[in-house]
Amino acid sequence: MTMEIIHVDNKSEIPLCGVDFIGLVDRSTNIIELKPITLCNLKCKYCFVNGGDYDTNFIVEPDYLVEKVREIVEIKGNYNIEIHIAPYGEILLYPDLEKLIKSLWTIKGVDVISMQSNGLLLTEDIIKKMDAVNLTRINISLNTLNQELAEYLCDCKNYNIKKLLESIQLLLKFKINVLIAPVWFPGENDKDIENIIKYVVDLRNKGYSNKEIQIGIQKYLIYRTGRKLKKIRPKSWKYFYKQLTELEKKYKIKLKLGPKDFNIHKREKKKNTLNLKKNDLIKIKIVSKGRWKRECIGIINKKIGIKILLKKPFLFSEELIGKEINAKVIKANYKDNILTAYSYLI
Ligand code: SF4
Repeated sequence: MTMEIIHVDNKSEIPLCGVDFIGLVDRSTNIIELKPITLCNLKCKYCFVNGGDYDTNFIVEPDYLVEKVREIVEIKGNYNIEIHIAPYGEILLYPDLEKLIKSLWTIKGVDVISMQSNGLLLTEDIIKKMDAVNLTRINISLNTLNQELAEYLCDCKNYNIKKLLESIQLLLKFKINVLIAPVWFPGENDKDIENIIKYVVDLRNKGYSNKEIQIGIQKYLIYRTGRKLKKIRPKSWKYFYKQLTELEKKYKIKLKLGPKDFNIHKREKKKNTLNLKKNDLIKIKIVSKGRWKRECIGIINKKIGIKILLKKPFLFSEELIGKEINAKVIKANYKDNILTAYSYLI
């Protein structure tokens, strides 16, 4: 089966705001989150966005993204802006990564460009390229230093821990900051979390600063629509922070990171005048298929897109493109600027 990839550009009619899996997310802070690609080289067993498993994938053209970022930075103010590239997939598969980062730096006020990656595709050549375009930080999702457990969690037989750790060393050598971001699966990688802490403490003892090498432990959250690890029961936030406090004391390292640690602060956001609420009935024009057979992308106006989930028995077909349908809003999250609706009638 050949995989379909939809290339999104300014002629594609697909807006970059409103849909969760591509484009931009503006959470009213100085950080603008970018989602340029949905392809992934892994199919992690815990992936909350079902990465690596889409029927149709999307790649957004860099100029289209940059044009939109520029527009949003103008509203937020041209100072202290961080661009955080965090796709529902693996950013190192994005063919225009260097071009994207280079163009983002031309926007006045961009101080930090960071990105998330599972790190497995890093090579010396890629690291040199990332250094040449001044990538500030890379957040690497590494949940264990144990080869077998990593293979199990990421459902990947050739997960190469040794190579990944060498890549981290090389990133540090090239002065690209690294944030190791393990997810803590209670009962599954408890010891591994401690081993990663020890690894970070050791790097700091070798002279790397707490900016050059950071650790951001993430709580395992279960999403109804994502993949879940069997037999793991997530703990409460209270329990999670209590555990972190104990580990902080044990290893004398700060583990509870907040907005201040990343210089995140409130900023103006793009005004949304739609005022849609859950259960509102709206008319939507369909402009593209989505990642699955029961998903498509609609537009409310030229600038705002919406993810549409087609109710059974409907499946996406090309005849739907350009059609206006009635839909019911099921999510209008203005904090994240993300909209989702169910098709109501076709
Ligand atoms: S968790 Fe990240 S690396 Fe793993 S499948 Fe999902 S998007 Fe890909």
